[in-house]
Amino acid sequence: MQPQRIWPRRPGHLAYIVGSLPLRHASTSSSTHPATLLAAAPAPSSPRHAPLAVMPTRTLVKSLVFTSIMASPLLQPCLSVMKYVVESKSMLLSPARNPLMNHLLRATIYNHFCAGVNENEVRSTVKYMKGLGFKGVILGYGRESVAKVDPDDLDGQVPQANQQQVVEERAIEEWKQGNLRTLKMIDEGDYLGIKFTGAGPAAVEALRRGDPSPPPLIQQAINEICQATAAQKSRLWIDAEQQVFQPAIDAWTIDLMRQFNRAGNVVVYNTIQAYLKASTANVQRHLTLAANEGWSLGIKLVRGAYIAHDIRSRIHDTKPDTDRNYDHIVQSLLTREFPLRGGSSFPDVRLFVASHNAETVRKAYALSRHRRDNHLPTIPVEMGQLQGMADESLVVLGSPGHNSLDGLNVRLADRMRRRDMVFA
Ligand SMILES: Cc1cc2nc3c(=O)[nH]c(=O)nc-3n(C[C@H](O)[C@H](O)[C@H](O)COP(=O)(O)OP(=O)(O)OC[C@H]3O[C@@H](n4cnc5c(N)ncnc54)[C@H](O)[C@@H]3O)c2cc1C
Repeated sequence: MQPQRIWPRRPGHLAYIVGSLPLRHASTSSSTHPATLLAAAPAPSSPRHAPLAVMPTRTLVKSLVFTSIMASPLLQPCLSVMKYVVESKSMLLSPARNPLMNHLLRATIYNHFCAGVNENEVRSTVKYMKGLGFKGVILGYGRESVAKVDPDDLDGQVPQANQQQVVEERAIEEWKQGNLRTLKMIDEGDYLGIKFTGAGPAAVEALRRGDPSPPPLIQQAINEICQATAAQKSRLWIDAEQQVFQPAIDAWTIDLMRQFNRAGNVVVYNTIQAYLKASTANVQRHLTLAANEGWSLGIKLVRGAYIAHDIRSRIHDTKPDTDRNYDHIVQSLLTREFPLRGGSSFPDVRLFVASHNAETVRKAYALSRHRRDNHLPTIPVEMGQLQGMADESLVVLGSPGHNSLDGLNVRLADRMRRRDMVFA
């Protein structure tokens, strides 16, 4: 299957992914892998039964409107209209040409899902979110692909045969610098979200071929990003993408974990898509490698975002099948068991439950809490979401009465754009 190219038609603004929800250090558990326990703080001023009171009314109303549209048949027509407007060249409609339209889109949709277009805006969004009481943030360099370089820029400067190479190198450099700049906007304990295809055509080709390691320039760039992340005590994860890229993404990320997740430090997380039938075996493989080779494993568990654009037969046949598989992986990891038979000793593992599904979040929270309260072996778990989408499930967990979760993060994202508009 050919990957879908998602190069934007013209260079776009940077978009960032952020997030947060508040927790305070509480105590250490007596599990095999003691963890810092974090609890909700500051407590919302309103009554116990109104955790959403910490959210501004405007945000709640916007959330209600957007999530209602997203769950309704209006989604496709709305996305088509937005795509039309964004790509329009008309003086009236184009947000690039009409400041009023630009302001309108920004004030309504963009600001709800994205953290900002420049460092100042992103910093102020992060401050605002942390002020709401969220504990941490996840920022992603929003460009998933590189801007098309205008061949006119290169004419006369480099021979034709080298132009492709110049384009590739520029893309990698831009990706590296974008990620490093984004990293500077987060603090200790926060996450940087990274997408390998964002490094441009060289990355896409190597991933599509299934190369076991990245091209040298990408290798150098990602090593630099990992080193900088470790130095400021943040973490990073590598996003999961379409299946055609995934074997190589897994291989490249496992190599990073081998290198950076040592001596109890977990700097790098890989993403597992539970909707894939092979995901349980893939988790087993990750666990076995980590146990045999002595490094720590970081897993961000998602259901998977590419169901409409990927090899359907490799994805669970029904939503309940995906849900069962997701729950099974969470349960196995939180009870320190291999999800399939035949595992050896259980390695050092961190889990990030990335889901908007309230039931999933509650179950993971309840199991984690039960294991900790009863001094049963478990692993550290954190949870997070994309900005602007069903934020309430994490706010509920962050409210009084739900205060012994081991870390909680929310992610603010332009994921809607990735999933539905760019691929449309
Ligand atoms: C913090 C964060 C990071 C993320 N990072 C990534 C990433 O790196 N890569 C990625 O691919 N996604 C990523 N996602 C998106 C994620 O994979 C899901 O698409 C999204 O979160 C919706 O799933 P859910 O668990 O939140 O909610 P739910 O609404 O419970 O689940 C919806 C999901 O169920 C699955 N599903 C729906 N219908 C069916 C069906 N008929 N058969 C089988 N399965 C079905 C699909 O995966 C669908 O997205 C991320 C999400 C979050 C919150």
